[in-house]
Amino acid sequence: MSAEGERPLALRGPDFVPLFADAAHVTRFAPSPTGYLHLGHAYAARFAFEAARLSGGRFLLRLEDLDPGRCRPEFAAAILEDLRWLGLFWDGSVVRQSQRSALYRRALARLRALGVLYPCFCTRERVREEIARMGEAPHGPAGELLYPGTCRDLPEAERRARIARGEPHAWRLDVARAGERTGPLAWYDVRAGWVEARPELLGDVVLARKDAPASYHLAVVVDDAAQGVTLVTRGEDLFHATHVHRLLQALLGLPVPIWYHHNLVGDAQGRRMAKRNGALSLRHLRARGIAPEAIWRMLGLGAASPEIRCPGASPS
Ligand SMILES: [Zn+2]
Repeated sequence: MSAEGERPLALRGPDFVPLFADAAHVTRFAPSPTGYLHLGHAYAARFAFEAARLSGGRFLLRLEDLDPGRCRPEFAAAILEDLRWLGLFWDGSVVRQSQRSALYRRALARLRALGVLYPCFCTRERVREEIARMGEAPHGPAGELLYPGTCRDLPEAERRARIARGEPHAWRLDVARAGERTGPLAWYDVRAGWVEARPELLGDVVLARKDAPASYHLAVVVDDAAQGVTLVTRGEDLFHATHVHRLLQALLGLPVPIWYHHNLVGDAQGRRMAKRNGALSLRHLRARGIAPEAIWRMLGLGAASPEIRCPGASPS
């Protein structure tokens, strides 16, 4: 085992598993099988696992495999194997989003009935042109360009005609109308405290496309509710997505969890870890003879303690 392999990685500030007097957290780890798990995933999974185990709750596993172009069965199989290797055993069966289209379609129909969705016929080029024409484009919290609202006020007759013609379209959330329906909302993040919901920061997000029954935002909200997740743990890069998720929960009448947006693991240079950092994939490290305990040390964590094993898992 090389010393280099065990170098601690960059984490900004400590994360603490939240424990409350009478809350057994139901958490989940929800990776996309578009590549192999890396150290950042190991950190996220371990955090969700411990929050569940230490509070006497449940740790669930969900594969976010809605993108048939990028998801592959061999990556899905590798995720399960890597988690078992790490000792992060999950409760119940694995939920796969690709098998839940009916659930998302129902949610989408409900939102459409509320009058808070509209069809968007824009291609990517069309959005770019519109933004260029506007001169000053609206930006999201991460500096990303926001949808300029081109299709928001199309006449109803035109919408119907274009859909009837079979023109490809996505469904977008009319954030302003949705907000009028729900009134002000807030959500609770364990690190940040109470946060006023500001879904307008992300603009009119897409909730479904012709080739995808649900976008990330819709699928996450529907599944977390269906799986009874009470504590949503995920990286702080998704902090602002929560504004939209809280709005969708209010519109769909779903239970509201609490959130913990944890640190992101950086590579040795402090850059955010991505699936393209193959050298930091758990597979690669394991092939080099690095044990799970060393993985935890690299992440600045102690070994997973035996008393927080899944009750169903066989003792080693
Ligand atoms: Zn549009």
